[in-house]
Amino acid sequence: MYTALILEQHDGKTQASIGNITDAQLPAGNVTVKVSHSSLNYKDGLAITGTGKIIRQFPMVPGIDFAGEVLSSADKRYQVGDKVILTGWGVGETHWGGMAEVARVDADWLVPMPANCDAAKAMMIGTAGLTAMLCVQAILDANIPTDTGEILVTGASGGVGSTAVRLLSQLGYQVCASSGRVEQNHQLLTQLGATSVIERAELDRPAKPLEKQRWAAVVDSVGNQVLATALSQIHYGGVAAICGLAGGAALPTTVMPFILRGVNLLGIDSVNCPLPRRQQAWQSLMQLLPDSFYQQACTTIELAQVPEYAARIIKGEVTGRTLVKL
Ligand code: NDP
Repeated sequence: MYTALILEQHDGKTQASIGNITDAQLPAGNVTVKVSHSSLNYKDGLAITGTGKIIRQFPMVPGIDFAGEVLSSADKRYQVGDKVILTGWGVGETHWGGMAEVARVDADWLVPMPANCDAAKAMMIGTAGLTAMLCVQAILDANIPTDTGEILVTGASGGVGSTAVRLLSQLGYQVCASSGRVEQNHQLLTQLGATSVIERAELDRPAKPLEKQRWAAVVDSVGNQVLATALSQIHYGGVAAICGLAGGAALPTTVMPFILRGVNLLGIDSVNCPLPRRQQAWQSLMQLLPDSFYQQACTTIELAQVPEYAARIIKGEVTGRTLVKL
């Protein structure tokens, strides 16, 4: 018997409770992992509260990421005792996920634990941190120099945003953090390396098709009007690496930034990201994130606290990353 967070649906409503699962109930897969840590991401919030149609088959064990140790493996690449990370691939959505003491998955979905990392650190980074790194890598790949102006990070107090601020600052970029919670999080954002902090309201208002050029690049996890305004303010030849919809899935923009300023929109997906790019991103995260990051921007919770935190992440009340200890 293993302890798990179990989602069930009654009368169209998702209900989360702590329960037991057996080995025989685990889904198909060729590697079984003893999970020591998972993390809470925005998508977990959508799934656990039932706010988003993330889960279509119940009962489901949520948790879109986890880290732990291999208990058994029928795949040559993994041996008993190997330390592994999993993010994405529909785990915690269509396949039982990381919020359980044990998970059974496909070996192709696993990443070997990078050097200088452990399960707790890996999940303090988690899906959100990996995605932040993929956004930052896209900006590096676009050859945006460090001396051309500020990089705007939206939703800066969140998991993707806070990690992106730290990574960009570590690389020598000037970072402007946009947040709806400036009063509460100004100190944290500057500690993470933001050189300036602006109120979300500065961006969350109707924008002209082209506004004063302000940003060398943008990392956006918010979408909607905030992104639309940011796009109208990107420098000639700049880019926006976009990954999220915390502010909504709409994008009320025009073609003007793209056709008159050569701005490029770079879509970032971590769920189906190919293994070599993932491994490279984990290496970069290990090189770039200082030890202080893990103390500054992470909260640790128990499995029983997950439903409460899931509701809070959807309301935009969670700051930084949330580590779930199994
Ligand atoms: P968090 O909840 O940790 O962060 C989101 C942040 O966005 C909040 O902290 C808040 O920051 C801001 N925000 C919240 N609500 C609103 C709102 N209504 N309008 C504008 N801003 C808002 O979530 P994550 O960092 O885990 O994820 C962020 C987004 O990225 C989600 O949409 C998630 O689904 C997506 N994502 C996508 C991935 C991919 O592979 N493409 C992978 C990981 C995440 P503040 O208070 O500072 O304004």
